[in-house]
Amino acid sequence: MIRIENLKKAFGKVTVLDGIDLSIEPGEVVSILGSSGSGKSTLIRCINGLERIDAGRITVDDFDVSNPKELAEARKRSGTVFQLFNLYPHLSALRNVTLAPVEVLKRNAAEAEKEGRALLESVGLGDRADAYPAQLSGGQRQRVGICRALAMKPRYLLLDEVTSALDPEMTAEVLEILADLTGRGTTMIFVTHEVAFARSISDRIVFLDQGRLLVDLPCETFFAEDGGMANARVAQFLSKMR
Ligand code: ATP
Ligand code: MG
Repeated sequence: MIRIENLKKAFGKVTVLDGIDLSIEPGEVVSILGSSGSGKSTLIRCINGLERIDAGRITVDDFDVSNPKELAEARKRSGTVFQLFNLYPHLSALRNVTLAPVEVLKRNAAEAEKEGRALLESVGLGDRADAYPAQLSGGQRQRVGICRALAMKPRYLLLDEVTSALDPEMTAEVLEILADLTGRGTTMIFVTHEVAFARSISDRIVFLDQGRLLVDLPCETFFAEDGGMANARVAQFLSKMR
């Protein structure tokens, strides 16, 4: 379980996360919605220990992200895919996928390669394993990015606007891969502006507003009631998205 308790984070004098409480159980698909600047990316970065938190506590399967001795264990459990693919340009698609399992997890190279090829195959890139990032389309690069995260066999997959740099066609191909993953029981925390897609795959919707967690509801309730009890802020957000 990922457990976030009273998380606070400021940049200088600006409070960006203001007392977030949120738990995510294995197997859940949770989408995080909210306006630009509401703190979604910062929350994801705090969960994987890329930002130091000012107060509160984040644990991933009971490993405390703020404890330097436990961070590596916490990170092993959560894989992250970012908006910009961050692939290593000098490595092939396959090497991008196998690098961390071999270097960090000390996996056998031949086995990692076999699994890496199978992962690339599963996202329709079986014949592009030896291509370099510059030779791939944006959608293909993002699919490699997803494989790279999955190669570490994370229990939790954190995805921060993984389609926002893609055109509609490539967005569709990446969303299809993600929908497929939810069907296989992968726990996902999904930051997105793709509201319709979030609605189609999520168990729960969390809505952030100015660093506060305004709403945390089952997906159906969220959309049926515009954020529950006709929350005015959520209704306003959704009306702009439709
Ligand atoms: P978007 O939908 O545009 O991606 P977001 O919800 O992901 O927005 P964040 O990126 O988490 O928002 O940013 C929240 C606030 O924190 C913004 O006001 C942003 O300017 C500020 N912020 C984020 N990172 C930093 C940083 N490293 N230094 C200073 N301020 C930052
Ligand atoms: Mg963001």
